[in-house]
Amino acid sequence: MVPKDNLEDFAGHKTDHHEVQVEYDYFKFHPMPEITDWMSQVVKDYPEVVTTVDYGQTYENRVISLLKIGLNTGEKKKAIWMDCGIHAREWIAPAFCQYFVREILHAYKTDPKMQTMMKNIDFYVTPVLNKDGYIYSWKDNTTRLWRKNRSPGPLGCNCSGTDLNRNFDAIWGSIGVSFNCCSQVFCGTHPASEPEAQAVTYFVGSRKEDFLCFLTIHSYGQLLLIPYGNPNYTASNYDELLKVGLGAADAIRSVHGMNYTVGTSPDVLYANAGSSRDWARLQGIPLAYTFELRDKGIFGFQLPEDQIQPACEEAYSGAMHIITYAHDKTFNAAVATAAATLWTMLLAVGVTGTTLM
Ligand SMILES: [Zn+2]
Repeated sequence: MVPKDNLEDFAGHKTDHHEVQVEYDYFKFHPMPEITDWMSQVVKDYPEVVTTVDYGQTYENRVISLLKIGLNTGEKKKAIWMDCGIHAREWIAPAFCQYFVREILHAYKTDPKMQTMMKNIDFYVTPVLNKDGYIYSWKDNTTRLWRKNRSPGPLGCNCSGTDLNRNFDAIWGSIGVSFNCCSQVFCGTHPASEPEAQAVTYFVGSRKEDFLCFLTIHSYGQLLLIPYGNPNYTASNYDELLKVGLGAADAIRSVHGMNYTVGTSPDVLYANAGSSRDWARLQGIPLAYTFELRDKGIFGFQLPEDQIQPACEEAYSGAMHIITYAHDKTFNAAVATAAATLWTMLLAVGVTGTTLM
């Protein structure tokens, strides 16, 4: 039997004469207005699971929005964070956030595991966090490699832009940053001085106990970075972060054979302070990762469009490895406890044999 909703949808499309909906091309880079329209379309297409949340404003007064994806169960749910486009020029990142949304929504229709996850958790996905910078990077060839946001420098400085991924309140200013406003890694005038960093700080910080996982998507380098960027600090769950990260790298490799390196930023890239990943981990969010997507420097920030699909496919596999781990650790704990109890009972009655591993 066809559900009533589907019949209505079908009828609705048949009577819609004025516009034919063109399939969105996930394997092209899109300027900001097209991404904004895409967000509205996703909400229209999946009203039962997707809503938009406006949670801040950029320096140039653009609204920062995310897609909240999950089933409304009436219960308090756990959450997964993903943001893309904190650095303007890393265009593969927003492309990945859009692909990720498409894939989890497809899986929700077909895959019982995703249906379970949609009941237990909400996905909060920000396709473009640094909207001002992203728009600027689309302006012309001279601005294509813009990285920072677009706020003016401090009084007396002739350069604009703060590196948002050095601006978070996480051992701010301690290492791998610059206090020169003309630098690509200018960390701002104080922790969370920038409205884009404030938006994430407030939104995530005000519900931090809900978040199992914080994934922030960058390019390039093919790395999975774990906290912390300052080598004098070690995450209390470093072993878990590394193990799950290595599992994600295996998942990535299995898709197109690409190698991703896993480790702390100072171990595999460079030391830095004030990243959103470190901030999230300091808030108590256990599984905080920075993805540095393709490639390793041949095209760098200007990844050709024919690599969008494979780059997204493999990164999706890696992200889902981490997300599934986070989900199962939380929601299969009850099942695991029951299994352990049964095992103890079997041991007590001596039916397990002699080989225990
Ligand atoms: Zn970046």
